[in-house]
Amino acid sequence: MPRPAQGTELGETIASDRAGALAVTLSGVSKTYRSGVGISVPALDGVTLEVQAGEVVAVSGPSGSGKSTLLHVIGAMDRPDQGSIQVGDREITALGDGERALFRRRVGFVFQRFHLLPALTSLDNVLAPIMPYRVEFDKVARARELLGAVGLVERSNDLPSHLSGGEQQRVALARALINQPGIVLADEPTGNLDSANGTMVMDLLLRLRQEHGFTLMIATHDPGITARCTRVLRLSDGRLVADTAAESGPPDPGQLNSQVEGQPSVDAG
Ligand code: ADP
Repeated sequence: MPRPAQGTELGETIASDRAGALAVTLSGVSKTYRSGVGISVPALDGVTLEVQAGEVVAVSGPSGSGKSTLLHVIGAMDRPDQGSIQVGDREITALGDGERALFRRRVGFVFQRFHLLPALTSLDNVLAPIMPYRVEFDKVARARELLGAVGLVERSNDLPSHLSGGEQQRVALARALINQPGIVLADEPTGNLDSANGTMVMDLLLRLRQEHGFTLMIATHDPGITARCTRVLRLSDGRLVADTAAESGPPDPGQLNSQVEGQPSVDAG
């Protein structure tokens, strides 16, 4: 599909099917924050790495090591000061604001604090990212399918305040997938959950990734999560200090012991 002219992105129709998983290449990426009192904080310092399309990558490291900043620059939520970032066929550091907004529609974001809109029902939260846009598919049917995939279709009309933390994060997973992303960036997705709910959310992320085929990058402190990824990147003071294959990696979908019952398979197409 030809790209729309800049400024017409609200008129773009989102296709019913999209290209698959997106690869990521960073070369010499640095980002320094400057505080109001003139102190410079190097959040990323010369990060160079490649992620293959469809990989499941944990981004580990202590608090303040640059994990969130790494996900934010890959997802075009923030701009690096130096270096290049290629995601799929786009060099995102070269994009203008309108093109960056279009690019972000190919990215699914999952946050530690869920960030659901409190006045919207589960269904409307899932629909929110595509509400302003024309799409080639039935928006509500897809949102309901995704809520089914996370075991919450019966809670479609509930507000976030009526859901547990684990349930809110499952709605947020459905929301992240409404646009058929080629990459999902999850920032401490289990950080606000107890271990049973954290396991359930991780089970779901891995199962949805198997079904939809996106690349998955997860910032986490949790060794239980890093052990379930195919690869672990470790950051320290904004530098990439280790890049290792995980011991086990994600299980096949048939091996997943999901604790969410009755969820139908979701057709990504
Ligand atoms: P992590 O996700 O590993 O905890 P972050 O990427 O959030 O690390 O932060 C990396 C460093 O950048 C930290 O020192 C943090 O305080 C600083 N930082 C992050 N965001 C900002 C910001 N918006 N303004 C100033 N400093 C920031």
